[in-house]
Amino acid sequence: MTSLSDLPIRDDLRGREPYGAPQLDVPVALNTNENPYPPSEPLVRAIGAAVMAAAGSLNRYPDRDAVALREGLAEFLNTDTPGAGLTGRRVWAANGSNEIIQQILQAFGGAGRTALGFEPSYSMHPIITGVTGTRWINAFRDEDFGIEPEAAVRAVEEHRPDVVFLTSPNNPTGTALPLDAIEAILAAAPGMVVVDEAYAEFRRAGTPSALTLLDRHPRLIVTRTMSKAFAMAGTRLGYLAADPAVIDALLLVRLPYHLSAVTQAVARTALGHAGELLGSVDALRRERDATVEWLRGEGLRVADSDANFVLFGTFPDRRRVWQGMLDRGVLIREVGPPEWLRVSVGTPREMDAFRDALKTAIKESK
Ligand code: PMP
Repeated sequence: MTSLSDLPIRDDLRGREPYGAPQLDVPVALNTNENPYPPSEPLVRAIGAAVMAAAGSLNRYPDRDAVALREGLAEFLNTDTPGAGLTGRRVWAANGSNEIIQQILQAFGGAGRTALGFEPSYSMHPIITGVTGTRWINAFRDEDFGIEPEAAVRAVEEHRPDVVFLTSPNNPTGTALPLDAIEAILAAAPGMVVVDEAYAEFRRAGTPSALTLLDRHPRLIVTRTMSKAFAMAGTRLGYLAADPAVIDALLLVRLPYHLSAVTQAVARTALGHAGELLGSVDALRRERDATVEWLRGEGLRVADSDANFVLFGTFPDRRRVWQGMLDRGVLIREVGPPEWLRVSVGTPREMDAFRDALKTAIKESK
């Protein structure tokens, strides 16, 4: 039997584990920040019809530049953030925002280059950084999981990274960044600044999107996804908005025809039903705020959240609490700082199950 270590694999990949949250068949899955509401029957039928229409020409390659899809995404962003003034030429799409991040690092990172991020944050940023041969630099968030602008500027000036990752709202903490912090970092950064806004549609009133900064900052990239608020995680569609020159750079590294005709058809249909798909966002926000309040009422520490998940703790043995909940059919995520756990916001019934399971698991862990 050949094992991985027998293969002439790259030295820097030796000993690594594949990334991924456990995919378990449980009654209540609140571990990957999905939108818990499936598409309606009419939308399922519309997607079916779009796939059927695409199927008739699957002997041909798809639109390599996904022009119609990018125009639809730009239109959506202009309604999400009035004044963004985007066009398809300033939007790029790929198979999930993870692929978007990979393309950014292929174009702007690589051997001899560095990327810097503020931890705790989304763990795929350092992983994709490493896989593209880029060196990762850890900078840190403050006690409340925010980023203190002066400290961030100092870190950027000290390391002069080629790419800076800012996640807002941040995963796994839920923390959004004020625009002045982003602008201070943009002013100090010698390279590209990526604001990962995977959860932007869940932000609280008064929390602005970095899309409003694009006009003034050609080295800014704002990434988004249809996997979260848009309730289309299975479609695998991520995208970004940036200066057209940034998109020219990404065209150099993207694989030709990377977005299948089926993906493009499904994503365009979803955009046509954006009202329905995003219709659950307000309810999920309210459920999130109620969850934060309930957890605080239980005497726990809870991070403020602008996303569709909540980070809470602290548990000297978080694995025990996590396992106790799983034993009751509720799967949450062991992620972030050592004594904390993260729950994605589900339906009211799922959150009832979450509360019951957590109370019991905490009692049993004592
Ligand atoms: N960015 C952040 C901050 C995320 O949490 C995730 C998913 N967990 C992604 C990007 C990637 O999402 P996708 O590839 O599904 O678009």
